[in-house]
Amino acid sequence: MELAGEMEILTEEIKKTPQEIQAEHERKEILTRYRKVLKGAKGVLKGDDFKQIKKAFTLAVEAHKDMRRKSGEPYIYHPLEVAQICVDEIGLGATSIICALLHDVVEDTNITLDEIRRDFGDKVARIIDGLTKISGNFEQGTSAQAENFRKMLLTLSEDVRVILIKLADRLHNMRTLGSMARNSQLKIAHETIYIYAPLAHRLGLYNVKSELEDLYLKYTEPEMYKDIADKLKTTKQARDRFILNFTKPIDEKIKKTGIDYVIKGRPKHIYSIWNKIKKQNTAFEDIYDLFAIRIIIKNVSPDKEKAACWQIYSIVTDEYTPNTERLKDWISIPKANGYESLHTTVMSHSGQWVEVQIRTERMDDISERGYAAHWKYKGNETNTNAPLDKWITQVRETLESGDKSAIEFLEDFRGNLFNEEVFVFTPKGDLKVLRKGATVLDFAFDIHTDIGKKCTAGKVNNQLVPISYTLRNGDQVEILTTKNQKPNEDWLRFVVTSKAKGRIKDLLKEENKTYITDGKEIVAKKLKILGLENTLETQNQLRAFFNKKDYNDLFYSFGKGHIQPDEIRRFKQLRDARIRKQEENKINLDETALRDTKSFEKELKKAKGSDTLLIGDDMQVIDYTLASCCNPIPGDDVFGFLTVNEGIKIHRNTCTNAQHLLSNYGNRVIKARWSSQAAMSFEVSIHLDGIDRMGMIQDISKVISSELNINMRSLSVDTKDGIFEGIIKLYVHDTKHLDTLMHQLESIEGMYQVYRMVAT
Ligand code: MN
Repeated sequence: MELAGEMEILTEEIKKTPQEIQAEHERKEILTRYRKVLKGAKGVLKGDDFKQIKKAFTLAVEAHKDMRRKSGEPYIYHPLEVAQICVDEIGLGATSIICALLHDVVEDTNITLDEIRRDFGDKVARIIDGLTKISGNFEQGTSAQAENFRKMLLTLSEDVRVILIKLADRLHNMRTLGSMARNSQLKIAHETIYIYAPLAHRLGLYNVKSELEDLYLKYTEPEMYKDIADKLKTTKQARDRFILNFTKPIDEKIKKTGIDYVIKGRPKHIYSIWNKIKKQNTAFEDIYDLFAIRIIIKNVSPDKEKAACWQIYSIVTDEYTPNTERLKDWISIPKANGYESLHTTVMSHSGQWVEVQIRTERMDDISERGYAAHWKYKGNETNTNAPLDKWITQVRETLESGDKSAIEFLEDFRGNLFNEEVFVFTPKGDLKVLRKGATVLDFAFDIHTDIGKKCTAGKVNNQLVPISYTLRNGDQVEILTTKNQKPNEDWLRFVVTSKAKGRIKDLLKEENKTYITDGKEIVAKKLKILGLENTLETQNQLRAFFNKKDYNDLFYSFGKGHIQPDEIRRFKQLRDARIRKQEENKINLDETALRDTKSFEKELKKAKGSDTLLIGDDMQVIDYTLASCCNPIPGDDVFGFLTVNEGIKIHRNTCTNAQHLLSNYGNRVIKARWSSQAAMSFEVSIHLDGIDRMGMIQDISKVISSELNINMRSLSVDTKDGIFEGIIKLYVHDTKHLDTLMHQLESIEGMYQVYRMVAT
């Protein structure tokens, strides 16, 4: 009996299929990776943490068990790697590990947020909710992408960990981008460089940011990337030798001080080298600052940090002459992303400029791991004066400051990400950090809206200056106000911060309301005098005629007196003329039946000499025009038709008049086709309809103007009860050109249908 039992087990083991062997291997691998996460986090985990993490791990494994990544690997590798990044590279703790493990569970499996809340509590559920909301690859239109980004930032002001985990998620996706299809690679890579890398930079995650940038380059410019990577490798030895020679004399001197320290030579990352090559239009070989020397001071008490840094600075500059213009002191006032360091550029004995960065271990940790590290050193009390907390408060304010479209917001925000700041002081000596380029007016609004809106001038270092004065580091600023001061549109040109811009716009909008009401009345009155009906259609035509983006804008212009009421007369004349022309066209078509046979015969002969009429051919001597009833463009199937008074008219085969003409006047039809050099521009009208939403018009104009380089003549839009309908007139080269454009328009979020209109 026993023997038989054992035999059974044996045979079973022999019978293991390759799939079973594979599964077993994967099970082991999952455990190995899980243990690695725990090991990395060991220092920060305590008490209940292990139990909770294990629970999350078990749940994630079970939930994802039938899923695989594009690479074919078990899906669970991904959340495990994301957790690993959170631990190793961002320095996050238990809550974040749990959330990283569960980050795709609600999105991709049957598990609900309520279950997560029940099992892991409110905090975890809130973070997962945030992560789920911003999931997806910003796939739809530009505006959806911006909208999504705004959502992401909203979660930032709630719990920064949402974004930190999202960044870890993105980093792992970028690391594994190789198994994606080429077009997805490009899309994800571009999104990364556009949004995630700047965000990582802003949160002070230097390493994450650098790796994201390098991976971006790897997938968008693979050859360039490889070239630089190879060159870095082959020049490494020479570089190491140089660094050794350079550091030797300072090394000896620092040792004598008894300060504990390390010296590192850090090469720049590939992306920033590539940027330099591009920007300075130079070769790899000509870049001298491929690396920086970093001196990190260890074991120094918080109150001695600054002094120690300056002591090292003094040793370095005793040995090597510094370029005084390039001293950067971010230890006295840290950068807004929390970065602290003392930078100097010195002349080496071999005649090469070398950048030296001096900082303490704590500063180094913050510079590489950003927010999380900063949190760690700060303890858990919230210090609203810390640069990063200040920034997060700013983000929150921007988000709350009203009704900007998502695209505007995104552009503004990105502007704020990249800009350096300017440090100024209030009369009482309080430090204010504003975006570089900020003016007295920005400063006023930064203090308070009530001060901003009454601001008439400033006193900078006791000198009277206008509100448009651009602040410089160290300026002490006093704001002068008067009761009767009122914001005007010019003010928008005087400010750079989103806060001031938003406030001014709000204030202006309030004032505008009166002008809009006035304008509405003026228009109504004038239309009545001219005998025009005051319908939505008329208003829309007026809007298009005066080239205004919406009705409010139109009425505002009348109310404010930018447009004189009498100009509506001009509009009426044009409209009447257009109606007359349309009627004439109709008559012309009928007149063709009464044409003069003789002249027709002549023209026919002339034309038939070449059998087919080549449209767009310069050599073609025959006079022809494109019919306005169907507006053909190159690529359309067309025919020529001899008219009585207007020579040959080119119609589309699908023209509503074609059937009539072809069947009744077949003898006057001429074969026609487009010559290949018909590279002119043709006007077409496109009709759009869809669901109205914020940012729709920007999306449309973006597709048209920036993406395809098409010249738009006019865009008129009508919205009613959430439905929008628009007509775009623009110039295209041919049908192919037009098709591409229409296709792009169709893919805009909320667009329902797009079609070419027969008549313009
Ligand atoms: Mn993920």
